[in-house]
Order: sequence, then C-alpha cells, then structure tokens
Amino acid sequence: MGNIPDLKRTLSNPELCGRLLERLHKLADRPFRFMEVCGTHTVALFRSGIASLLPRNITHLSGPGCPVCVTHDSEIALAVGLAGRENIHIATFGDLMRVPAPDGESLKKAKAAGARVDIVYSPLECLELAAADPGSELVFLGVGFETTSPAVGATVLEAERRGLKNFSVLCFHKLVPPALRTLLTAPPPAERGAESRNAEQGIDGFLLPGHVSTILGLDAYNFIAEEYDRPAVVAGFEPADLLQALVELLEMKKMGKPSVKNEYIRAVQRNGNPRARAVLNQVFTTCNARWRGLGEIAASGLCFRDEFAGYDAMRKLGLSLPDTRPIPGCMCGEALSGLIRPPQCPLFGKVCTPQNPVGPCMVSTEGSCAAYYNYGI
Ligand code: SF4
Repeated sequence: MGNIPDLKRTLSNPELCGRLLERLHKLADRPFRFMEVCGTHTVALFRSGIASLLPRNITHLSGPGCPVCVTHDSEIALAVGLAGRENIHIATFGDLMRVPAPDGESLKKAKAAGARVDIVYSPLECLELAAADPGSELVFLGVGFETTSPAVGATVLEAERRGLKNFSVLCFHKLVPPALRTLLTAPPPAERGAESRNAEQGIDGFLLPGHVSTILGLDAYNFIAEEYDRPAVVAGFEPADLLQALVELLEMKKMGKPSVKNEYIRAVQRNGNPRARAVLNQVFTTCNARWRGLGEIAASGLCFRDEFAGYDAMRKLGLSLPDTRPIPGCMCGEALSGLIRPPQCPLFGKVCTPQNPVGPCMVSTEGSCAAYYNYGI
C-alpha cells in the first residue's frame, strides 16, 4: 500500500483519504479496470497523488472526457482551414488554439499568419465581437460536452433576440452517454489500431463526470447498469470524492449489484438541470458525430434545428467535413478509448511533450497524455 503519511502534504482530508485507501486495498483482491470519463478527474487523480497510491489491482483508464481531445481531426482541419478565409472572424476557447490538424497547422499558426482568431472565455463575448465587426462573419467554434453546449444554445437565442445576422457556430458539440455506450458495446471502429485492442481489456465501471452530470442528472446513465451490468458513480473532484467513488464502484462490483450512484450530491441533482436541457432541446437536435478514437457514433452530436439554420456555420457557409488521416504516430484515439495508457505511445515524452505536442491529448490541460507527463507517472 502507498505511503499514507505522505497524504498529509497533498490531501485536504488525509485521515478520511487514508481510511478510504485502506478500504480500497481490502476490496481490490483481483484486477479491476475503471474508466474516469472526465479529463478533470484524470488530472485530479494525478495531481493529488492518488494515482500512485491505488492498489496494484486497480487500473484506472482515462476516457473520452477531454473536449478538445475527442474533437475529430476532420473537425480541427475544417476549423483551421476556415480561419484563413476572407471575411471570417473565428472565436474559440483557448485550448483549441494549439491543437494540430493532421497537416501540422493550427489556429495559433493561422493567427500568426494573419487570420482573425480571438480567444473568448464565454460564447456571449462573440455577440459583442460580431456587433463590432459587421463586415465579417463571426464563427464560434462550438466544442465540448453537455457542460458547455447549453451556454452556446443560450447565446444563439440571445443573438436571435438582438437580430444579429453575422454570427454563427461551427457546432462540434458532443454527448457523453452515446460515447459510453460505444465503449461498452464494441471495440472502436478501424479508424486506426483496432487490432491493438487486447482481448482481455474491458471496463468494469465508470467514474462519471461531475460537471456534465450537473446538466444530465443520473437517469441518462441508467443503461450502464441496466443493459451492461456495470456500476457507475458520479464523482466530485476532491481526493476524498474520488476515493469514495472508487470504493462505491468496487463494492457494487463485488456484490454483483451494479447501479448508478451519485457521490457528488453537493453539486449534482438526480434530475440534473432541466432548464439547461430545455435550451439545448430548443436550439439543437441530435445527429451523428465523429469522435477521435471512437469513430462516428449515431446520435452523439448536436446539430442546429432547422429554425436556427441561420446560426449554423456549416449550412450558412456551405461547409463539409474533409476526409483526413490521423496525425502520424499519435495514439491519442487509443488512449481516449482506454486501449493504451499514454506512456505506451512511442512518441510520449520523446517527440511529444506539452512544449511540442504532437496530438491534442498532450495539448490540453485536461488531456491524459499531459496529465501523465506533468505529474510524472
Ligand atoms: S503522447 Fe502525444 S503523440 Fe502520443 S498519444 Fe499522446 S498526444 Fe498523441
């Protein structure tokens, strides 16, 4: 077992964490593989030191929970290509700036070459940018899960209220539950490296994302227990939250009674946030979406309803996703699917570092490759 006194330097509640770790060590009498779906959980596990204190029998896998990382190569290529067009003004969250397209180009490079690309901290800022620049089309890059998409939907409603005509969204928003179903159902399609799936690999349960679950609530995950016989626990981000959730997963697994539990009750309600979901349903409908590593998943993305087609950059600008090849040598897709741990990528820490990232999993602060690199596992 790990060195419990060391916890005092890193954990806010070392006594409780110590007890939970002892419980985990008692329960983990055979190998278990759990996946944390949220990139922030990945970082929290490493930064707190918990990852190095877990029983050897527990393998934790980083799943498709980093929004930038799951954004498909073709989506990145389309966004970067659009940035070079005349009368196009791109607005994006900052973590997309350095994500490389398969040809090595990025929004950061496009901006350096003269493209109009601005970082925003809220989609609402786009409306001011658009109003100040009526001769250009302000295109917001809509990337992220159920946590961020309601704010984008609300921004579109506000743009409509203001009568803004030069604002649109390149909508690459994705939905978490269909990706989890895909992970439980089948190996990733042969986008690349499907043959690398090890037959004994599987997922025994999920640490469910805290932020996404504030919107979704719990019922959206019921299929995990009911159809796939796996436990799942919504976890917070403190070390004790993560350890408690792992204990719950292990206990359900050992009792053979899987269900979906909420260990983040100070933030997540069973019914989630119905008002945020109502905004999503008003503006968007579901459509197929491409995921890095998981391929195309039915009804896993958000697209604009016809009533809001004037805000859909794809339709407004006549765009379509290009055919792209994966970034040469990058195994980000395999890492996001739980097929490998980042250090198993031959480029990890040699060619690919946070200073010179080859793939998005090393670019984003929530990326699993960056977490492994920065926290020294
Ligand atoms: S280490 Fe770099 S190249 Fe390898 S999977 Fe991660 S991001 Fe891709």
